[in-house]
Amino acid sequence: MTQPSTSNTLLLRDVVKTYAMGTSIVRALDGVSLEIARNEYVAVMGPSGSGKSTLMNIIGCLDVPTSGTYCLEGQMVAEMPETRLAEIRNRRIGFVFQTFNLLPRANILHNVELPLVYGGIPRADRRARAVKALETVGLADRMTHRPNELSGGQRQRVAIARALVARPSIILADEPTGNLDSKTGEGIMAVLDGLHADGQTIILVTHEEHIADHAHRIVRLRDGLIESDQARGSVARRAVPALDLAVAMGAPAA
Ligand code: ADP
Ligand code: MG
Repeated sequence: MTQPSTSNTLLLRDVVKTYAMGTSIVRALDGVSLEIARNEYVAVMGPSGSGKSTLMNIIGCLDVPTSGTYCLEGQMVAEMPETRLAEIRNRRIGFVFQTFNLLPRANILHNVELPLVYGGIPRADRRARAVKALETVGLADRMTHRPNELSGGQRQRVAIARALVARPSIILADEPTGNLDSKTGEGIMAVLDGLHADGQTIILVTHEEHIADHAHRIVRLRDGLIESDQARGSVARRAVPALDLAVAMGAPAA
């Protein structure tokens, strides 16, 4: 088969990304091949410096591979000019960052509407879509507030609404709970779980196992390479006998 299948939301083949650091070259990604289908829920894990953010930047079309190919919904991204990359970023990718990245002086409705301003969508439609996105994340009653009037968890919900508003193919979240306490982080994961249940493709970076447990597949990177890639179901099946054993040995049921 020569044509990439469009049922694969994304397909990376032998992706290498190098950075020149003075006289040396850093191989941030050292030949990554990865296929992610529509409506997958993937957690990317790995030690600091293993290439997680570089991978997310390439998937999100913020950066292009040094070599290798990247195909997003049947389109070869690696060969595109920057103007087309920008268009894909706006229309197909919803980004959520650890640091929220909201405009401090704009109210949250305006923050969420912003990605649509560049899309030529009429003002009334923009507003209606932004309101709907804020309803999805449970913030319909905060629309006139500014980011600094909200908690960290609420700000991250705004960022998720902003990521959703252009109805992207993929939500990319780089450590979305990294700046939140664990209870608030679980609330954010509940939002992502809901989006996934509604059909959204989600790829998130995390270093916390309990956050990765929300995903259905875990890709582990090390030194710019995929070290393992497994469905989380297979991990859970292995965990069951251990629990049975504990119960059989008289431990109280959790
Ligand atoms: P992670 O997100 O897993 O911590 P990164 O993808 O940020 O890892 O980085 C992978 C490697 O590439 C690291 O060694 C990092 O220092 C290097 N790197 C990342 N971005 C750049 C850059 N813009 N310039 C130079 N080196 C970079
Ligand atoms: Mg990183």
